[in-house]
Amino acid sequence: MIASLDVGAAYRELREPIDAAMRRVLESGWFVLGPEVEAFEEEFACLCGTTEAVGVGSGLDALTLVLRALEIGRGDEVLVPSNTFVATWLAVSAVGARPVPVEPDVATHNVTADAVAGAIGPRTRAVVCVHLYGRLCETRELRALCDEHGIALVEDAAQAHGARNEDGRAGALGHAAAFSFYPAKNLGALGDGGAVTTSDPLLADRVRLLRNYGSRRRYEFEAAGVNSRLDPLQAAVLRVKLTVLDEWNERRRALAERYRAQLAGVPGIALPAPSGADHVHHLFVVRCERRDELRDELRGAGVDAQIHYPIAPHRSGAYAELDLDLPVADRLASEVLTLPLGPHLDEEDADVVIGAVRRLRAGAAV
Ligand SMILES: *Cc1c(COP(=O)(O)O)cnc(C)c1O
Repeated sequence: MIASLDVGAAYRELREPIDAAMRRVLESGWFVLGPEVEAFEEEFACLCGTTEAVGVGSGLDALTLVLRALEIGRGDEVLVPSNTFVATWLAVSAVGARPVPVEPDVATHNVTADAVAGAIGPRTRAVVCVHLYGRLCETRELRALCDEHGIALVEDAAQAHGARNEDGRAGALGHAAAFSFYPAKNLGALGDGGAVTTSDPLLADRVRLLRNYGSRRRYEFEAAGVNSRLDPLQAAVLRVKLTVLDEWNERRRALAERYRAQLAGVPGIALPAPSGADHVHHLFVVRCERRDELRDELRGAGVDAQIHYPIAPHRSGAYAELDLDLPVADRLASEVLTLPLGPHLDEEDADVVIGAVRRLRAGAAV
């Protein structure tokens, strides 16, 4: 089976430095926050091009803590894409605000500044833009729009570590950004983890406070915080992974280009829009007719094609009762198919996938 992702292979390639990094933490006796987390925060901020990075427990927590630090809560609205991983919406709900969905552009899967502009209302306090599948949104336009309205642009960069455009890297393109280090992400830990990046020192300070029980000094609590701290063992692993992020993103890019070249013109398959450094191909997602049929046939042919995501957030148990009408999100949920892609897939694997898709779709009606 050509797996969609091989996180074990990522460890095996870096076994020696990862083992050494973990041993360093084990022998230091420092198991919560401390120098390893601080070193990672500094290195990650440097990569993103921000002055601050704050390590937290997960991507969901990173989003939630940013919104809390922005003092967004009950009565406020936050614009979110209708087509995203459900965590984007859940973070807004977690602070008591209302997620207001914006339908994406089908070609890029991302929201446009025009669509966002049309959705801004008197209660809108922030926009969470998601760089879905690893492709940056049009951040310059979104940032200008948010600045004009005096609201915050928060990047959900959980799928876009390292992606860059003319203004910089993911994490530095809004007022603040949230990252996840879930193992399958482009920068993945060996467990859960996340980070907030920003160049606003006050916002960073607030997130630092909130992630640690609202405490700066032991047993002094300034705010009702939470316990959401990046684990030093994960920080040590992430410091190793950070050194290969660009290289591994290049491998993803090469495979994506191969797919794009070899699958062009296959009937009933719409390829992702062209991209460059702005896309780090967390996932390679095509849109197709009779999607479920193709997925099953591919599995029969030894290709593990997945669906990101089969159920749009507004159809999930968390939001179904709102009964929202979001036809683009519904359409995408029924058409998208993810082909295997990762830094540990080689060209031969990609060619097996390409061969299977071409064979299964040969002669299919357009
Ligand atoms: C993975 C992901 C998250 C959540 O990250 P966790 O670390 O799993 O909490 C949020 N948003 C998007 C777009 C993601 O892909």
